[in-house]
Amino acid sequence: AQARAAAYLDKLNAEQRQAVETLDGPVLMLAGAGTGKTSALTARIAHLIHTGRAQPNEILAVTFTNKAAREMKERVGRHLGGAIEGMPWLGTFHSVCVKLLRRHAELVGLKSNFTILDTDDQIRLLKQLISAANIDEKRWPARQLAGLIDGWKNRALTPEKVSGRETAAFNNRGSELYAAYQDRLKTLNAVDFGDLLLHMVTIFQTHADVLAQYQRWFRYILVDEYQDTNVAQYMWLRLLAQGHKNICCVGDDDQSIYGWRGAEVGNILKFEKDFPGAAVIRLEQNYRSTEHILAAASGLITANEGRLGKELWTEARGGEKVRLIGHWDGEEEARWIGEELEALQRGTRGNPPVSLNDQAILVRASHQMRAFEDRFLTIGLPYRVIGGPRFYERLEIRDAMAYFRLVVSPDDDLAFERVINTPKRGLGDKAQQRIQVAARENGLSLLDGARMLIAEGTLSGKAAGQLRLFVENIGRWHEEIVQASPATATTRAEDDDLLIEPAEDGVAPANDQSHVRLAERILEESGYVEMWQNDKTPEAPGRLENLKELVKALEQFDNLQGFLEHVALIMDNDKSETEDKVSIMTLHAAKGLEFPVVFLPGWEDGLFPSQRSMDESGLKGLEEERRLAYVGITRAEELCTISFAGNRRVYGQWQSQMPSRFIDELPVRHVDVLTPPGLYGGGMNGGGFSAGGFGGSTAMDDRVARADVYNSPGWKRLQSAQSRPVSQPREVRRMAVDAQGESDYEIGDRVFHKKFGYGEVMGTEGDKLIVEFDKAGEKRLLAGFVVPAAE
Ligand code: ATP
Ligand code: MG
Repeated sequence: AQARAAAYLDKLNAEQRQAVETLDGPVLMLAGAGTGKTSALTARIAHLIHTGRAQPNEILAVTFTNKAAREMKERVGRHLGGAIEGMPWLGTFHSVCVKLLRRHAELVGLKSNFTILDTDDQIRLLKQLISAANIDEKRWPARQLAGLIDGWKNRALTPEKVSGRETAAFNNRGSELYAAYQDRLKTLNAVDFGDLLLHMVTIFQTHADVLAQYQRWFRYILVDEYQDTNVAQYMWLRLLAQGHKNICCVGDDDQSIYGWRGAEVGNILKFEKDFPGAAVIRLEQNYRSTEHILAAASGLITANEGRLGKELWTEARGGEKVRLIGHWDGEEEARWIGEELEALQRGTRGNPPVSLNDQAILVRASHQMRAFEDRFLTIGLPYRVIGGPRFYERLEIRDAMAYFRLVVSPDDDLAFERVINTPKRGLGDKAQQRIQVAARENGLSLLDGARMLIAEGTLSGKAAGQLRLFVENIGRWHEEIVQASPATATTRAEDDDLLIEPAEDGVAPANDQSHVRLAERILEESGYVEMWQNDKTPEAPGRLENLKELVKALEQFDNLQGFLEHVALIMDNDKSETEDKVSIMTLHAAKGLEFPVVFLPGWEDGLFPSQRSMDESGLKGLEEERRLAYVGITRAEELCTISFAGNRRVYGQWQSQMPSRFIDELPVRHVDVLTPPGLYGGGMNGGGFSAGGFGGSTAMDDRVARADVYNSPGWKRLQSAQSRPVSQPREVRRMAVDAQGESDYEIGDRVFHKKFGYGEVMGTEGDKLIVEFDKAGEKRLLAGFVVPAAE
């Protein structure tokens, strides 16, 4: 019997309510962006708790980012009037699996205090293995092997399970090296990201009792962004869901953007087969975006084939069209966006002021961020970078983390190698080699190997004293951690009772901050801080600042181990900051989020869509890029601005850019083309011409043509005013192909193609042009892929 009516239900529409109230059996919610999938999922959790169907810790809920998990937890709390005890099993796949694996590590030959390696460590380890196997690392790079192994792990393939043609990978040594790598990880008491799921799947498959225990325990399973699960995650879910079969997945096939990382959009399509009798719920009303934004996104995505196809509508009529603007170069783009952000913040566009918190810049590739960071630092515009590992990727941070790791897990050899001679202790290659040999011959960790050498007194001179000090320090710091919290430093036996107790983040022990002081001391006493204080390079002060930042970040955690785990899982560390800031993040990191104002810079072929997706044969990569564009536009609630630059500096070289082909795919009725500012800049909207007219060119279908941007008076004016050589075509005619698939090129027209260069139109074939390229010879391609050549 249901308890008193709950307010969280009132806010939902009929379909959402169905998704919330269908508690028994499998449920699939399949719907487009902004239709309230995540909202419904959150209400469902509240409902489960409210109706007493499950205790908070009997609910397994998987989100895509840690940030999303945090928000969901907060919202469930609000729905229930703040009366929520910990939800230990609400998190990302990785964070949930870390917890599970710590409990059962010994079943896969690990100790419960295992380290999680980052990509750098992984690569370093693979390099060692490749060279030990006498393979030429130049021809067979470690990164490639890392990619292969990740791919296998995403598909839940252990080394023995790699089969068929794949065994020939990496010069026929792929699976062998994979096996060696897994062995080595075990020796190091370490795992990589992929292992978190792989090990759990293995444990569930080989220990029926453990699986059964969790199948019983997790009464309800909920998964957000189901379209982006990979095979390993899918297997893990299926195994767990076979208990109560109360699994509710939500997703959108149009937002599947992790195919490159092994996600299988097919998982969502198979759901009904996997879980017979599933209730399938579709949502069609979009509550996020205004009409034009939604229509622009919907129009764009129709260019993809093989979609399920969904109707979306919104009550939010009117609003501004999606704005499109071309800039001279990347710096100009950053400058303009900076001005826009401030104008919107101050309300000088005749708009109600928009807080910087409500504005976001979403980029395709993280290297695009730098131009914005530089510009915003110059003008003093506060910003935050979200979701990225950027801060934690910095050299000094990685060094500091290696110290922490070694102190937490003394047999973390990779951390040992990283810090043994940083700062310089006179322990060069030769001394390190002796430690390596001693460790290997005696089956010890490097730290213990070093201890042995000291005890034997085989090292001499200054190095010996330094090594002794280093080893003693690490030992002393490690003892402090063991004293503070014995459970984190010793192997914990499997214990069923653990499940019943409020888990780690249920009621947290009082945070005494001793780990923060310890961290500070580690950095001081190891000489690491001093090393940067003595450093005379211009970066040194910034590095010291970063180290302070790092220690500050620790305050939010109960201990060092918890912190290391979170960093390994790429937490963003700025949740406590209160100042208004514009957010900068990648499109991938923006999934599931929403902002009133969104800027989408860098819509240029080769950048977005990425060069890689364009070079690929077939449309798979390109379609994934298009879904990413769809995700980008649909993050915007009220104002969405797409921009591109005509020139970009790539590795110090100026390169001219073609506007993105996705721009051609935007429905014209919903787009406003703005005049580029530049020297005679009309500024915002000044001279911007409305859709449909397009400066004299006749729109043959309802698509925006990139050429129209170039044809705009503002762009031409800008070009003639610039002194830098212009490699964009000066005379550009309409390049789109009309509905019948006929282009308006004539035989003999000169054209330019990004990859093939210049050529001459020889004729047409169906919807393709036949072009004889000067260098590349004859090709057949869609007219949209070439532009008329400059005279
Ligand atoms: P995405 O596909 O981007 O993840 P989503 O389907 O998960 O989107 P939500 O983020 O849950 O959508 O919701 C989008 C917006 O709509 C949010 O601001 C949310 O508060 C609002 N919303 C959801 N459901 C309703 C509703 N029934 N009435 C009014 N607003 C709603
Ligand atoms: Mg969502």
